[in-house]
Amino acid sequence: MNFHVLTLFPDMIRDGFQTSITGRAAEKGLLSLQTVNIRDFSVNKHNRVDDYPYGGGAGMVMQAEPVCRAYESVRSRIHGSARVLYMSPQGKVFDQRMAEELAREEDLIFLCGHYEGIDERVLEEIVTDEVSIGDYVLTGGELPALVIMDAVSRLLEGVLHNEESAQFDSFHDNLLEYPQYSRPEEWRGKKVPPILLSGHHANVEKWRREQSLLRTRERRPDLLERAVLTKEDKKFLAKQDGLC
Ligand code: SAM
Repeated sequence: MNFHVLTLFPDMIRDGFQTSITGRAAEKGLLSLQTVNIRDFSVNKHNRVDDYPYGGGAGMVMQAEPVCRAYESVRSRIHGSARVLYMSPQGKVFDQRMAEELAREEDLIFLCGHYEGIDERVLEEIVTDEVSIGDYVLTGGELPALVIMDAVSRLLEGVLHNEESAQFDSFHDNLLEYPQYSRPEEWRGKKVPPILLSGHHANVEKWRREQSLLRTRERRPDLLERAVLTKEDKKFLAKQDGLC
């Protein structure tokens, strides 16, 4: 997977990316990051890339030409097609399903806006997906790009030490993950659920599945509606409701 990020703040992307698991994966050659500073493509003698909005109003707008040139510089280095994700509070809200879909791509181009956003005309020309990370407005698209790259990276083969961990994470199969415990067995009077110390693998799995079901129903009933439940799952939930 090759990430290409068009941004006015490449350091912010590099610093965020190089830390922890994504940085280690890049060192191992499992993924790569290329940042492109949109300012390097300014067509203005003062190196500006923003201007006042037509029609008036607050703030500045990133101009079309530098963004387009920055994009073209990346595009010329990629063979085949590549999705261009514009980070935008107006986009489709990012979720685990989208992360799984994006993880199948070879190259992803991220476009990070700033100020009041980017001239609509260049967005119409180059963007394939507008993606939001939630219903709130940030100052720029760098944090959203890092969030998406992180979620996608951990799904790539070899990035996580234990391949199983992504498989059982929250949102896989539309269920939240069961609670996790580590040593010591007792912490400030609170004990680890005894079943986890039993060494009985099947019983542990059953308990974890049930905890996932209960947790999802309590915290995210909307997810549970979309989850594929087995007969046993349904029976368990009905039993909790005293229905059988
Ligand atoms: N005026 C824009 C609007 O109301 O839609 C908001 C612009 S915002 C201040 C500046 C940039 O931050 C956007 O161009 C986008 O790249 C990024 N951004 C802000 N909030 C975001 C979100 N929730 N998800 C993804 N990107 C976001």
